[in-house]
Amino acid sequence: MHFFTYKKNKLYAEAVAVERIAKEVGTPCYIYSHKTLARHYAAFDEAFESVPHLVCYSVKVNSNIAALNIFIKAGSGVDIVSGGELFRALKAGANPKKIVYSGVGKREDEIEYALKTGILMFNVESPEELRAINRIAGRLKRKAGFAIRVNPDVDAKTHPYISTGLKENKFGIETNQAIKEYVYAKNKLKNLIPLGVDCHIGSQITELSPFIDALKKTKNIIASLRSKGIEIKYLDIGGGLGITYKDEVAPHPSKYGKAVIDETKGLGVTLIFEPGRVMAGNAGILVAKVLYTKQGTEKNFIIVDAAMNDLARPSLYGSYHAIKAVTPPAPPLIKGGREWDFNKRVAGGGEIVADVVGPICESGDFFAKDRELPEFKSGDLMAIMSAGAYGFSMSSNYNSRPRAAEVMVKGNKFSVIRQRETYNDLIKGEKILK
Ligand SMILES: *Cc1c(COP(=O)(O)O)cnc(C)c1O
Repeated sequence: MHFFTYKKNKLYAEAVAVERIAKEVGTPCYIYSHKTLARHYAAFDEAFESVPHLVCYSVKVNSNIAALNIFIKAGSGVDIVSGGELFRALKAGANPKKIVYSGVGKREDEIEYALKTGILMFNVESPEELRAINRIAGRLKRKAGFAIRVNPDVDAKTHPYISTGLKENKFGIETNQAIKEYVYAKNKLKNLIPLGVDCHIGSQITELSPFIDALKKTKNIIASLRSKGIEIKYLDIGGGLGITYKDEVAPHPSKYGKAVIDETKGLGVTLIFEPGRVMAGNAGILVAKVLYTKQGTEKNFIIVDAAMNDLARPSLYGSYHAIKAVTPPAPPLIKGGREWDFNKRVAGGGEIVADVVGPICESGDFFAKDRELPEFKSGDLMAIMSAGAYGFSMSSNYNSRPRAAEVMVKGNKFSVIRQRETYNDLIKGEKILK
């Protein structure tokens, strides 16, 4: 469910015409819907209403402080993976007691920053990291709450690059070793407090079974730890719930909630979740302008002013993003009040099969391949849908392209929540040798 819909043959973000934003802010630009973000958080949180739980939104997914602030105001905690994300979260108003810190490579200064902030817990991913946190906490005369991220060896049935819970993945500690580490920490690492067990098996998961498999394994770990006198208060089951990009059907948060609640009944823990994509994915679009069209001998190309540096997912994972015309060509293409789907044939509408590509000097710089599309012309605006997650947050300056502006729409108003970068921003901190 999102609030990017056609009204009178024009694409709107809530009650603001996308065309208007593109005119005032320029392209490429990201547009997020406030109402969609708030609704996604509420739907997730409500799914766990009946049990003790804490939602810790995954900052890396969409890190803009305006987006973070919407979740935080609704009661969310955050899952961070770097000192930079901790800084952002605090700027956005996060409560330190609702911060969990994940990631395989936490630096000493980052651990120190998190300890001084007083975060809830570290999700520890290696025995060496566990000892490092103990040592740093000792030096700062603080106690560090921790969970071990266990690698449950379950197949999340998703893209290999976003599958994280298999033995071959770099994440977490394998089950038996994890139990030994908890025992070692209890006996030897006096500045640590075991609080939870953590697992995160991957992203864009569209079935419930991998989550349930992982839960069964973590439940066994909790039972084993308790039998050794190690009390566990939190079960962090990570993020990973998928969304619809094309025709995938991911379980609704309420279904996911029911399955998780059933599986953890009587366990006596507070559940922690680290959802990201499901919060932000369909709450954002990337708007680009068509620069040129070109008929090759093999293919048609639509060349737009956004590129892989703005949205890397197609290049990285071959991901599908729906593409819609912001102002569909005449004759009106809304039939019987139904939103016209530009990825389906409609009689009378000029259509082509084309690749949508950006200006970057890489063949991997594309948004769509061999896609049926309306006949975009130079100057037309296009919306690349479902770009709210892993969109701007993965963007770069490759080819010395200033990063796009980000815009938040709320009702009939919009605000630039991150200015488009300038050429001067591109060389910030650089210098020529004397
Ligand atoms: C990326 C990540 C998440 C968020 O995953 P989604 O699939 O976007 O929900 C949660 N936890 C950890 C540890 C992550 O690395």
